[in-house]
Amino acid sequence: MVTYQYNCETDGPTDVSRPMGEATQTIECPVCNQQAQRVFSMPLVSAVDQKRMKLIDSTKATSDRPEVVTSIPNDGRRKKQPMAPNNPLLQKLPRP
Ligand SMILES: [Zn+2]
Repeated sequence: MVTYQYNCETDGPTDVSRPMGEATQTIECPVCNQQAQRVFSMPLVSAVDQKRMKLIDSTKATSDRPEVVTSIPNDGRRKKQPMAPNNPLLQKLPRP
């Protein structure tokens, strides 16, 4: 059984359980017996793991629109370049 949602213009949304694929475009509203239109909603969107969806989205994005960077990403292993060569004589010189 699948839960389908219908919307009555006067009474609002109604949920109806039907076997899969047997939902009709309209049902009789259980309150006022007028025709209620079927509402198409995305099932189980809130049940999807948000972290997993972000990972899937970013993985898909790298294939067709890679992220533009302005500098080399810092991976924590890169050493800072010294301002001057590591010569003891040069270290005695005045610094700007
Ligand atoms: Zn109604």
